[in-house]
Amino acid sequence: MTHHAIIVGGGIAGSAAAIALRKAGITAEVYEARHDGGDYSGAALRLPRNGLNALRAIDAHDIVADISYPVANTELSSGTGRHLGTVSFTGNGHNDAPRTMPRARLARVLRSAAADHGAAVTTNKRLITATSRSSSVIATFDDGSTAEGTVLIGADGLNSTTRRLVCPSAPEPRYAGTHLVYGYAPANTTAPPSPDAFHIYWGRKATFGYTTAGGDIYWYANIASPEPLSTEEARDTETWRKRLVTLFRRDRTPAVNIIRAATVILPSNTRTLDTMPTWHTDQVILIGDAAHAVPPATEQGAALALEDAVVLAQQLRSNEEAATALEAFEAMRRERVIRAGASRRSRTTHRRGTPRWIEQRSRDRRIAQAAQSGAMDPPAWLHEHQIFWH
Ligand SMILES: Cc1cc2nc3c(=O)[nH]c(=O)nc-3n(C[C@H](O)[C@H](O)[C@H](O)COP(=O)(O)OP(=O)(O)OC[C@H]3O[C@@H](n4cnc5c(N)ncnc54)[C@H](O)[C@@H]3O)c2cc1C
Repeated sequence: MTHHAIIVGGGIAGSAAAIALRKAGITAEVYEARHDGGDYSGAALRLPRNGLNALRAIDAHDIVADISYPVANTELSSGTGRHLGTVSFTGNGHNDAPRTMPRARLARVLRSAAADHGAAVTTNKRLITATSRSSSVIATFDDGSTAEGTVLIGADGLNSTTRRLVCPSAPEPRYAGTHLVYGYAPANTTAPPSPDAFHIYWGRKATFGYTTAGGDIYWYANIASPEPLSTEEARDTETWRKRLVTLFRRDRTPAVNIIRAATVILPSNTRTLDTMPTWHTDQVILIGDAAHAVPPATEQGAALALEDAVVLAQQLRSNEEAATALEAFEAMRRERVIRAGASRRSRTTHRRGTPRWIEQRSRDRRIAQAAQSGAMDPPAWLHEHQIFWH
């Protein structure tokens, strides 16, 4: 059977899947719910080497290199400003540093490349439901229109509609215990330049990170809290500015200067997804965050989404039956993705409240020892993963 793919979601996974499918000679239609996303409509991300390798497999590395900048190291410091260690992402003789860019910009260039490769890309269409027939699947959108394919790829992110169609008992995303506030500040803000590193400070009350690699400052703050933010709280950015200044006031870090100067402040809840019992039916498959949202601190979500896109296209190219291709895809991807999610989980959990002075000292010592011993180095099985196109 000749495959024809309906892709739900024109984000990172969906757009990359469209490029990969076109490379495999398979026709594809992409349906994206939003009209378009502004470049500052979301966080920046650092795409590790395995993500860059996946882009290379579908000849999309160069277009992403053009909109991103290398950030080779993570510099770790205490809230007192003491340097605790360096985690190098180029330590094994690799000069292919991870690249940082706004998430929305990555999705946008991939979406436009998908259209250039012959995929039909439609924005402003939100999937509502899908119905499987004997050899096809019909997607229905919020404007009442439909699209038919041999396979439906749910690349609709953490709040996936497709996930509920694949598995009605699927877990909903869970609050992961921290508020994540991120944003941008102008390049002329008084802060030590950090052009090739992400600088992370383990402060008294919260963690603060920033880089100046892109010219402007991209920053984030991670604050442990038992309760998730409500929608109203997340909207109130000026209250957040004051709150963050208070939280970081007693640390000796650039946090307060950067937050005072911030032009964009985006408060959010960190959320994770428990392991799904399955990612597919005979005609519908989930990829990217729709299938397996790993914590942001792993810096792997987008990279795994790109890997998914390439492997799925290869399986559809090799298998005439959609069900066989989808089963093979899940079998190839599941173990790696679960392992990736677990690889940094322990380090992403924060103690709630203010650690006492002695606890802060021992935490800083543990971080310094871990950095020095190489325990925080990016694992080769994850970062050096290659997918070849043949
Ligand atoms: C703060 C933060 C920092 C991160 N940092 C990193 C990092 O450093 N490195 C890294 O690799 N990853 C990082 N990630 C993770 C990464 O951003 C995600 O894993 C990645 O965006 C997943 O891509 P996706 O295409 O699966 O989902 P998304 O990017 O969420 O795309 C889903 C798309 O589907 C669309 N959609 C949703 N519902 C529908 C519907 N019903 N119909 C049609 N379209 C729909 C959405 O509008 C969206 O465009 C980070 C995430 C966060 C939150």
